[in-house]
Amino acid sequence: MIKGIPVMDAHIHLDPMGTNREAVRKFKNAGGTHLLIIHKPYHHIPEIDLGSYKRSFQTTIDMTEIARNEGVEAYCMIGPYPGSLPHQANTYGLEEAFELQMRAMQHAFDLIDEGSALGIGEVGRVHFKVEEEIMSKCNEILMSALKGSKERNCPVVLHTESPMENPDLFRYLSSLIESASMTKHRVIKHYSGWESADPSNNMGLSISMQARRSNLENALSNDFDFLLETDFIDENSRPNVVMPPDTVPKKIEWAYRRGLLDSEKHHHLMVDLPKKILGIDMDRY
Ligand SMILES: [Zn+2]
Repeated sequence: MIKGIPVMDAHIHLDPMGTNREAVRKFKNAGGTHLLIIHKPYHHIPEIDLGSYKRSFQTTIDMTEIARNEGVEAYCMIGPYPGSLPHQANTYGLEEAFELQMRAMQHAFDLIDEGSALGIGEVGRVHFKVEEEIMSKCNEILMSALKGSKERNCPVVLHTESPMENPDLFRYLSSLIESASMTKHRVIKHYSGWESADPSNNMGLSISMQARRSNLENALSNDFDFLLETDFIDENSRPNVVMPPDTVPKKIEWAYRRGLLDSEKHHHLMVDLPKKILGIDMDRY
């Protein structure tokens, strides 16, 4: 087990109806120290009005408290999930669905202001094919996320389509971030492959990379910067999706064994970068 340098999973979900506490224990027992817990829509709390958004954001905050009680440093990111917008639009019409997500965003900012969450996430764009008008509302909601985060200087985790489907993705995101005057490296494109860690591809955005061996091999041998994630969704019907909760510490250990990682590089990735991107003092732990 790795000792002396923090090990962070920068994108994990915990669900009160899932294994939550058990997942955190697995992570910790494998050597994990820090979790960035990202809001997700919970099946038992349909996000149909502001009241339900309030309850579901509070659930993410409560999951973060559970993780802390298990002895890991935990932070959370909250915001309206873009993948919900098409369903909400089906039920209420697009305009009302848009208003609902905008109100949820404002509530997320209120919670950040009172110190209950670190930043906004995961917000952004629908990752499957939708009508132009839905995507354009997504962009509007994303813009409000970026502007509000700029005001508070808080980090943002983005959920979008992949640059494989949209080769123009980083250029487009980068232009949105610039027009919001937001700091680019405080915006994290999650669910990334190693190619996106290449600074000539990501246009200055930060990257949270899936903790796969091939990603680590390529990104480490090219000396790229990245955060690491499992995107564990904590759903009992799909256990260990996207990756089991102990994957990040296990893959870090594997990278040491393979000679891909040493303590200096590890310190850069898991102390310096989280400090720069998320504003977290990682030496504190
Ligand atoms: Zn996620």
